[in-house]
Amino acid sequence: MHRTAVRTTTALLTAALTAALLGSAPAWGAPDESAPTGSAPATRPVEAFAEDGGISHAQAPTTSPFLAAQQQGVAPVPGDGDVTPLVHGGDPATKLDVVVIGDGYSAQEQEKFRTDAAEKWREMTAVEPYATYRGLFNVWAVSAVSPESGVTGDPDQATVRHTALGSYFWCDGVERLLCVDEKAVERYAAKAPQADLVLVVANSAKYGGAGYNDIKSPLGYEGIATVAGGNAKSGQIAVHETGHSLGKLADEYAYDGQGTYQGAEPAEANISTLTADRMRGQGTKWSRWLGQASPDGGTVGTYEGGGYYPAGLYRPTENSIMRSLGREFNLPGREAMIAGFYRHATPLTSPTATGSRLTAADRLTVDLPVPGTRLHWYLDGRELPRITGRTALDLAELKLTGPRSRPHLLTAVATDPTPAVADPALRSNLTASLSWLVTR
Ligand SMILES: [Zn+2]
Repeated sequence: MHRTAVRTTTALLTAALTAALLGSAPAWGAPDESAPTGSAPATRPVEAFAEDGGISHAQAPTTSPFLAAQQQGVAPVPGDGDVTPLVHGGDPATKLDVVVIGDGYSAQEQEKFRTDAAEKWREMTAVEPYATYRGLFNVWAVSAVSPESGVTGDPDQATVRHTALGSYFWCDGVERLLCVDEKAVERYAAKAPQADLVLVVANSAKYGGAGYNDIKSPLGYEGIATVAGGNAKSGQIAVHETGHSLGKLADEYAYDGQGTYQGAEPAEANISTLTADRMRGQGTKWSRWLGQASPDGGTVGTYEGGGYYPAGLYRPTENSIMRSLGREFNLPGREAMIAGFYRHATPLTSPTATGSRLTAADRLTVDLPVPGTRLHWYLDGRELPRITGRTALDLAELKLTGPRSRPHLLTAVATDPTPAVADPALRSNLTASLSWLVTR
């Protein structure tokens, strides 16, 4: 077993290196078909982001030739794998957990890593709907101690540095494409309490990054974004990538020469084969948003070109962040992002576990992480309008009656009333409730 595994790994690495060196990587759109069945592919399609905001595809080897030997289990490295909460909003079961892993930071540079990681989170949360919904997140910084400072390909193609995650520019021959070793990322991500979203921050001021859209980690995260820690524009790369991983959004850009789309209606919420009239008639996709002013500028309609095709597919607006970096999400994109946040996080939490037994002598508090959330209380199923919106209660206020042995069911129901989510099917995730048994 062991020998087979080693030989498979070597074969994969060789194939990846050969593809990278010869520039003979298969066309983007599918993992490398030559990979042995049941194992990881040798390469996978990733997005590359030009400094002018343009987006393209390339093929990234899943392993890196620049991985440091000391991270391969030879000896423990002090501080390696340490986890620091950058933003700690609450129990990982109730929050969307972002794991930020540093690469190319030496033992002496771990504080710099945490500063860079916090700055990336600041860049991401400057964009809506992150700005409004930041209370739904935990952010964990995982230290990866690299023997060398900086990463391969910075400042030039001849520069080689061996690092904890093996990050390197010039991936697949693209200078701004910053690839990483997927298994190393997973090893470090596993050190955080939970990973819903993974961001790799490289110790570099050179613009670059990558979007690994089709990762499905056994840890639960979907997708990896890599960004340059010292480059202020690179945070946009992570925001675009989460449009795929959290929002399940399609790309709204097209390639010349891709022709006319002939396939079935795509699953994603932000591309469609339908023109505005037909979409309105069928009440599907972004029909609820048609004609409305969009945060990325202009009016929501059906703009031809998207999902990589210049014709036959339509996008909701002229130029959202799913088409070019440095832009806002459009209305359908924003709706999908908020819905995605609520797939991982809840609008209502409490330090007192749901189902707990309490008495009239207890005090109960709840938290509403999103501004504007509405809170209603119910006792044995009947609403208590007097305490609507209250997040702290002395349970004596309930003036419970009846036998001391009889518990009453106290329920808090929170709903985010945001008009940014219009689809009733998605709105159902914007409500949460907690209940406690209270005796007098
Ligand atoms: Zn994309």
